[in-house]
Amino acid sequence: MEPKLGNPQNTIEIIKKYNFVFQKKYGQNFLIDTHVLDKIIAAANITKNDMVLEIGPGIGTMTQYLAKAAGQVVAVEIDDNLIPILEDTLNDCHNVTVIHDDILKVDISQLAVQYNHGRPIKIVANLPYYITTPIIMSLFEKDVPIHNITVMVQKEVADRMQVGPGSKDYGALSLAVQYYAKPYLVANVPPNCFLPRPKVGSAVIRLTRYLKPPVIVQDSKLMFQLIRASFNQRRKTLQNGLYNYPELSFSKEQIATAIADLGLPSAVRGETLTLTQFAQLADRFCEISGKI
Ligand code: SAM
Repeated sequence: MEPKLGNPQNTIEIIKKYNFVFQKKYGQNFLIDTHVLDKIIAAANITKNDMVLEIGPGIGTMTQYLAKAAGQVVAVEIDDNLIPILEDTLNDCHNVTVIHDDILKVDISQLAVQYNHGRPIKIVANLPYYITTPIIMSLFEKDVPIHNITVMVQKEVADRMQVGPGSKDYGALSLAVQYYAKPYLVANVPPNCFLPRPKVGSAVIRLTRYLKPPVIVQDSKLMFQLIRASFNQRRKTLQNGLYNYPELSFSKEQIATAIADLGLPSAVRGETLTLTQFAQLADRFCEISGKI
């Protein structure tokens, strides 16, 4: 089926037909620009062999585009009021399944088993901005079989996903994204491409999952604890950040030794370390605490 939604007129028509009231708490800003929709679909490299998970289909605008490009589409929407609208707008899309649920409560690996024989899926979404980080982190941490994630996010979040040490945007999200995936900025998207217009700029970013992470680390859970500890108190030294973090229980001496062993100054700040250095630090702590 050719997509019918994606422009302001048809979107407003649906909104009026169902007396739909936008809910701010669900981060509802619907896409009304066909060029942006085409760019997202092209960037996600979708073929008829793919199963795509869409997070938050809204009134089904992007879902219609996905249905045309993909083999299977599963769309998870939380808002009760959108379910009858989706039944209408996706009536002719026979390869789409709508699940009425909170994406943070859905077992996505199970969806991949059910709809894609457990093979890697593609994730495409104009994300609800209030839960961007928990969604992305949980996809990676739960080891969901994923080929790529192509999502609209707040511009500032897209920046955070791509930067390295030296930028004010560098943080735990940058390191997590870059450990699991290769980020690529697809497009910057201004507020007038949405209804209603968001107060912030947006960007589409594609994260292509690495088959093998770019750094080798013995204990990735420990590495992410060190990362969180380092950015938890950004203005503190790495040494104090690690010592004061409740999830870690290394002594001051052990921390000083690990930092010195990496050839770093004792007053170094965590925000200056690269992913490779965090991996080396985690390995050093494993050795010090006798794990390896
Ligand atoms: N995909 C549509 C579009 O581009 O026009 C809508 C995007 S809108 C930014 C975000 C969508 O996510 C809304 O439909 C909202 O109701 C839905 N949503 C918000 N929180 C959600 C959650 N926890 N689980 C599933 N969907 C959610």
